[in-house]
Amino acid sequence: MRGRMVFEPTDRIVVAGGGPAGLSAAEELRRQGFAGEILVLNSEPYPPYDRPAGSKGIVTGKQKPTDLYLELTPETGINWLLGRSAVDLDPVRQQVTVDTGEVYDYDGLVIATGSHSVFPKFWVEGEPGLHALHTLDDAWALRRDLQHASRVAVVGGGLTGCEVACSVVGMAREAVIIDSKDHVMDRAIGEPAGAAVTEEHLEYGVEMKLGRRVDAIERHRGRWRILLNDGKYTWADVVVVTAGERPDTEWLKESGLDISDGVLCDHALRVVGANNIVAAGAIARWPNLRYDDKPRRTGQWIAALEHGRAAAQALLAGDAEMPPVTILPRFWSQQGKLRIQACGELLPDADVQITEMRPGRRDAAAAGMLVTYYSANRMVGLVAVNAPHPFTAMTRMMLNDVPQNMELSSNIRSMRRLVNAS
Ligand SMILES: Cc1cc2nc3c(=O)[nH]c(=O)nc-3n(C[C@H](O)[C@H](O)[C@H](O)COP(=O)(O)OP(=O)(O)OC[C@H]3O[C@@H](n4cnc5c(N)ncnc54)[C@H](O)[C@@H]3O)c2cc1C
Repeated sequence: MRGRMVFEPTDRIVVAGGGPAGLSAAEELRRQGFAGEILVLNSEPYPPYDRPAGSKGIVTGKQKPTDLYLELTPETGINWLLGRSAVDLDPVRQQVTVDTGEVYDYDGLVIATGSHSVFPKFWVEGEPGLHALHTLDDAWALRRDLQHASRVAVVGGGLTGCEVACSVVGMAREAVIIDSKDHVMDRAIGEPAGAAVTEEHLEYGVEMKLGRRVDAIERHRGRWRILLNDGKYTWADVVVVTAGERPDTEWLKESGLDISDGVLCDHALRVVGANNIVAAGAIARWPNLRYDDKPRRTGQWIAALEHGRAAAQALLAGDAEMPPVTILPRFWSQQGKLRIQACGELLPDADVQITEMRPGRRDAAAAGMLVTYYSANRMVGLVAVNAPHPFTAMTRMMLNDVPQNMELSSNIRSMRRLVNAS
């Protein structure tokens, strides 16, 4: 990046996206002494809020929307434009256009527009009892419909889908998870822990239709008839689709940036092929040199906060060499009686070891289990179910285990060349 080294008090930095990544970037800019204007654009009409609580506190009615608003650091003088979407970026003129037609010049830009739900083929916008779950509005609409529902189908047995299903059962309603894998949460916690959690959820009362896909859904006498690819069907009053997320890059499609699966960044989160632009959070695809030099996205809350801070620092550093951003991806989830925690990368070619905290128990997950992933003699991934103490200790070890020889590989060097050439 032929960026600038010093930002002036007359400069403006635009932050596109007001989720955890955008918020932490904006606040870090001030912490680092940027004295100019910080303008945050956010499509949603709310201040930044705790999105993960959407599948927990809001759905169960334990929290109301205003409980989720995040505390903002007072007197930072950040200008929040809520309910306004960025619709275009011109990285040469350094301008962002918003949906009202206004054009904002910027001296620095943070791209933090996150991701949105993926909708399956059968999705019909606005149908009663058919829900996605990504925003606060989604969660609140689902909460309202759940009051009158006795049976809920959750399409997609990932982290969010499992949380919803357990919340629904906890509210004395029936829940059925439909997923193409033969166990839940495959991407989030891998096969061994996923299989054990599946058993536990069945025990808890969640019905499972696994190894199957939804072919179609039909409205019939006020309910949904859900046709599966094995020719069978099931019924539900409410259908919740949690079938994954995709980066929010629509507004960047004319920008010339590499937006194949998120915005391509270098190891310090500087956007490849642009000046004075960084990206953070679920939209950023960057090489996490803690593992390897393959650029990947990460879709977790803590990572978004850490990204925001690192991206702000990289933006203010201009051309200066920056240390690589080597965050340790991690999350936790409460599902029925299970506390599930994971950190690191569950690399497909890693050696997997399973430790049962109480060997021989049939309810291995409830009794406590640890699954560790080793690659090249390093622990690269860890999943714990009902084993919080060993998880905390081992996570500390992993946090400290940053490879020392993070030589920029040829892949990274070629990205740096691209950044420098822009
Ligand atoms: C229901 C649910 C439960 C979750 N639970 C967990 C959990 O338990 N643990 C965990 O680690 N993670 C969880 N996650 C994931 C976590 O919330 C995300 O990884 C995190 O929010 C990503 O932060 P972000 O700032 O990158 O993006 P987002 O949080 O997606 O924020 C991006 C913001 O940008 C706005 N935006 C989008 N396009 C534009 C545009 N063109 N112009 C302006 N603004 C725009 C969006 O409206 C949004 O407010 C959950 C996610 C969901 C949906």
